[in-house]
Amino acid sequence: MQYPALFQPLELGSITLPNRIVMGSMHTGLEEERGGFRKLAAFYAARAKGEAGLLITGGIAPNRRGWLSPFGAKLSTEGEADRHRVITQAVHREGGRIALQILHAGRYGYHPLVVSASAIRSPISPFTPAALSERGIRNTIADFARTAALAREAGYDGVEVMGSEGYLINQFTVPRTNKRQDAWGGSAENRFRFPVEILKAIRQATGPDFLVIYRLSMLDLVPEGNTWEEIVMQARMVKDAGAQIINTGIGWHEARIPTIAHMVPRGAYAEVTARMKAEIDVPLIAVNRINTPEVAEAILAAGQADLVSMARPLLADPELPRKARLGQPELINTCIGCNQACLDRIFENKTATCLVNPAACREEEFTVRPATVRKRILVAGAGPAGMAFAATAAERGHEVHLYDKAGELGGQFRLARRIPGKEEYGETIRHFSALLARNGVHLHLGTAVDAESIGAGSWDAVVVSTGVRPRKPDIPGIDHPKVLYYDEVLRGERIPGATVALIGGGGIAVDTALYLTTPAHDTTAYQENWGIDAESRERGGLCPPRAQPPLRKVFILQRSRGKYGSKLGKTTGWIHRLQLRAMGVEAHSQVRYLRIDDEGLHAEVQGQYRLFPIDHLIVCAGGESENSLADTARALRIPCHLLGGALKAGELDAMRAIEEGTRLGLSI
Ligand code: NAP
Ligand code: SF4
Repeated sequence: MQYPALFQPLELGSITLPNRIVMGSMHTGLEEERGGFRKLAAFYAARAKGEAGLLITGGIAPNRRGWLSPFGAKLSTEGEADRHRVITQAVHREGGRIALQILHAGRYGYHPLVVSASAIRSPISPFTPAALSERGIRNTIADFARTAALAREAGYDGVEVMGSEGYLINQFTVPRTNKRQDAWGGSAENRFRFPVEILKAIRQATGPDFLVIYRLSMLDLVPEGNTWEEIVMQARMVKDAGAQIINTGIGWHEARIPTIAHMVPRGAYAEVTARMKAEIDVPLIAVNRINTPEVAEAILAAGQADLVSMARPLLADPELPRKARLGQPELINTCIGCNQACLDRIFENKTATCLVNPAACREEEFTVRPATVRKRILVAGAGPAGMAFAATAAERGHEVHLYDKAGELGGQFRLARRIPGKEEYGETIRHFSALLARNGVHLHLGTAVDAESIGAGSWDAVVVSTGVRPRKPDIPGIDHPKVLYYDEVLRGERIPGATVALIGGGGIAVDTALYLTTPAHDTTAYQENWGIDAESRERGGLCPPRAQPPLRKVFILQRSRGKYGSKLGKTTGWIHRLQLRAMGVEAHSQVRYLRIDDEGLHAEVQGQYRLFPIDHLIVCAGGESENSLADTARALRIPCHLLGGALKAGELDAMRAIEEGTRLGLSI
């Protein structure tokens, strides 16, 4: 067995978990969608079939005031419990176990009914909460207990009580948001009374043989959070009140520190759970950026935790546990921490899916059926779109030949993985590489496709996924030797000097600026850069950040108004802008480019002349579709399909590319 600690069963009273992998709670948006419960059943059943030890649902409110958004998912009536049965039955049919997470949003709710410990508005919601009265608190506790009892009736194996990430219970437990003078505020013991009473009421309502998990904020990452001593005290109190497992919560949603995105080193927060292990004897779950069985095994084998939580990694690959058990880690579709198709979409009120796994949350739509007629297909371009198409079409039985003029798979992902903090993109290339080999795709790397290879191959179809070529802006002096293009820089073919200007303020400019300024970091440097005190010596676990010196002076320039990177994802754009600010990057908008010469870049910035005395100017001005092969195929009357950047350069993104490739592979 390759991962002995990961596949140790764990007995928890009435249930035994076959392994230590918990699919952590994740809101998908299906909870509120019409017909969403049937889709949720398929979603969770796929993860149960993939052998996750325990699944935890997205957060479900115990009452209307606890909604995350108006008419959000709630479980407080028999009728609502009935709707959940389709989920629990589907999971149990696959031999899985599932717990319902009870989440009261408190002041994070996006509606006017919000309540909290005190009437203090959060920085991420426009609604000021009403402070709960003594009666309101008692009713809320009763509502938690009723939801747990209904969850049991609906067939769930247990519940998780959400006590972290800044939601209602967390609002009671820290001085930041709890300014009460009564028995529910003031001392730590008073502040912790709310979760303790909730757990006792749940235990009483559900009996002894029902799994109860408590998610404890072990590191708040906001001012006036708890100290380590208080966090340990809370852990002991919730255990005594009936929690059988304590899950780790890291950082409030309003914290200005990245805790789960790709630039957070893998397993960076396991040390927090490990510190708690030394304090208390109850199974603990480690969380955040545990995305491979190797990372999980290392945490468990070192005794840092008893279980590992993998939410996004199981969105990316429902079969992660089974592949790990079978010793096939190379086939795992690894979560790259991009947040683009999961959390960013949730924040846009869309249903979550996954950038590397477009079938996530749409399991019924993405069924692989054998092809009725076996076709011989040429695919030009082995970037994300071409790889996704080739792997899917070959799985259905087609004869697929995948060409790329580069000697390696990956396309734009080969550039992305060179950006500090985006190394995970290399995992997608590794996954596709293993999948293409398993599915019998014929690889022709280092081979450019031309009219001759298209004409001579007796192809039934040609797929053009040749991506984009960088746009060349029309600026006097654009052919000056100081001018470089982002792709040659990111490939490491050209090394820019000490002072650099980037033309363009999109995602590529942000990536290039990170590449040019930011030293690679490990967990220690990450904590120092962001001012994280993992030992919570000060309240909230914050300390003054210490930025590393930048590798270069960089200017980001754009012609339009507004801040650069405005189209970046909601959950990562702010992080990148803070990172680049710490690296001294100077950004200018409303720039008119005049000329480039030996002196540097001459420009007008908001109408004022300015010379940027740069060593190099790097063009990051978007791309244009590279799809001339389509004309060749059409001239030869071969059915031709365009994918990804070759189809549309303007809104090129990897999520669209992989989804298009997969869908065409399923239908061709
Ligand atoms: P982009 O987002 O379209 O940005 C291109 C930039 O070039 C714009 O800021 C534009 O700014 C400037 N520009 C366009 N035409 C120009 C011209 N003729 N002369 C001078 N400047 C010009 O494209 P991208 O940065 O290449 O990114 C491509 C795609 O990859 C995007 O869809 C992006 O979402 C995705 N991507 C995302 C990430 C991420 O999420 N972290 C990272 C990399 C790439 P002005 O017009 O204001 O000058
Ligand atoms: Fe992971 Fe990105 Fe998929 Fe979300 S969209 S699960 S972060 S790979």
